[in-house]
Amino acid sequence: MTKDEFRVLTAIEIGMRNHELVPMPLIERISHLKRVCASKVVKLLLKNKFIAHENKKFDGYKLTYLGYDYLALQVFMRRGAIKEVLGKIGCGKESDIYKCVNQNGDFVILKFTRLGRTSFRTIKKNRDYIQHRTSYSWLYLSRLSAIKEYTFMDLLHKNNFPTPIPIEQNRHGIVMSLINGVPMQNISEIDNPKYVFDQCFDLLKRLAENGLIHSDFNEFNLMIEDNGKVIMIDFPQMVSTKHKNAQFYFDRDVECIHVFFERRFNYQITDTLDFNKIARLNDLDVQVKASGFVKKEIKNIDDFDIDLRGSDDDDDDDDDNDEHQDNSDDENELDRNIEQEDSDNEIEDSKKIIQNLNILNDGEIS
Ligand code: ADP
Ligand code: MG
Repeated sequence: MTKDEFRVLTAIEIGMRNHELVPMPLIERISHLKRVCASKVVKLLLKNKFIAHENKKFDGYKLTYLGYDYLALQVFMRRGAIKEVLGKIGCGKESDIYKCVNQNGDFVILKFTRLGRTSFRTIKKNRDYIQHRTSYSWLYLSRLSAIKEYTFMDLLHKNNFPTPIPIEQNRHGIVMSLINGVPMQNISEIDNPKYVFDQCFDLLKRLAENGLIHSDFNEFNLMIEDNGKVIMIDFPQMVSTKHKNAQFYFDRDVECIHVFFERRFNYQITDTLDFNKIARLNDLDVQVKASGFVKKEIKNIDDFDIDLRGSDDDDDDDDDNDEHQDNSDDENELDRNIEQEDSDNEIEDSKKIIQNLNILNDGEIS
C-alpha cells in the first residue's frame, strides 16, 4: 500500500468518528491530499474493498472490516509481532482467527473481533443504543471487545492462569501465542478424564475466588495440550462475580462442563461448585477496573454486555463524547494518529497500571 493510500484509509477512519459516511471533501481535508489524487486513491481502495461507498441518503465512504484489518495489521507488522499471515484457522460467530509468524520465526495467533456480523438480535433489542452508534460503532465495539479480551488475558496470564501469552493489541485485533493443542470439542476420547475435568473445575473455582466468571467456559474455549494441560481462551465476555447475573453465568459454566464430560467421556461427576461459598469479591476484577484507563472502556463494554445478554444491571448515562467532537479536530488528527501508533498507547498504559498494582506480589492466587 502506498503512503497516499494509507493516508486516505486513516483519514476515513478518523472521519468515521463523527460521520456515518465520510464525504469526499472531508477525506481531502483530513488527508491533506489534492482532489484528483484523493479520488484516485479512493477508487483504488474501493476496488480492493478496503472501503465501501454509499450514496443513498448521503454520499460518502466508510471503512470495511478489511480496511480496518489492514490498519491494525500494519501496526502489528511494524512492531514485529507479525511478519506473515499464514492463513485463517478459525471463523467464529464474531471473530476470525489467523495463524501467523512473527519476526523471530515463531508461530503466533491473530484474532480479529468482528462484532455486528451476526448480531442482528442485538440491533433489534437495543434500537436506542444502536441508533446513535453507526457503522463506526461496530468497529468501535469490536475494538473495545479486543481491548477487554487483551486486558483480561494479560491479567490472568500474569497471575498464573493457563492462557495464551498476550503479545499485542491494536484496534479490533490481538496477537497472542499459539497454543499447541486442540479445543476440547475436537476430542472424542481421553485417557484420564478426571485429570482434565479437575483442571476445569479448579479453573472455575480459582476465577470465582478472584471475583471473575469466564461466562463462556465450554469445550470450544478450553484447549488441551498433548500433555493433558487445559488452556482457557476467549475472554471478551468475562464478568465480575458482582454482576447482577453472576450466579447464573457461573452455574451455566459449571453445568456446561458437567454435561460435556458426562456425554462425551461418560464420566460420572459427583463434585459440584457452590457459587455463594466460593465467590470472593474485590480481587482481580477490581484491579482491572481500578486501573483508570479501563474504567470507561469496561463501562462501555458492560453496556454492550447488556445488549448481548439482555440484562440491565447498569445505568447507561455514559456519553461517548469522543464520538461527537467538532469536525475541525479531525483535520489535524491524521499526523497525530500516525505518530501515536508507534508508541501505542492504550494497552501500554493499562499494562503499566496493572503492573503498578503489584498484583504479582501476592504470589500464587490459589
Ligand atoms: P471466538 O470468540 O470466535 O469463539 P476464540 O478465541 O474462541 O474465538 O477462538 C476460536 C478458535 O480458534 C478456538 O476454538 C481455537 O480452535 C482457535 N484458537 C484461538 N486462539 C488460539 C490460540 N491462541 N492458539 C491456538 N488456537 C487458537
Ligand atoms: Mg470461542
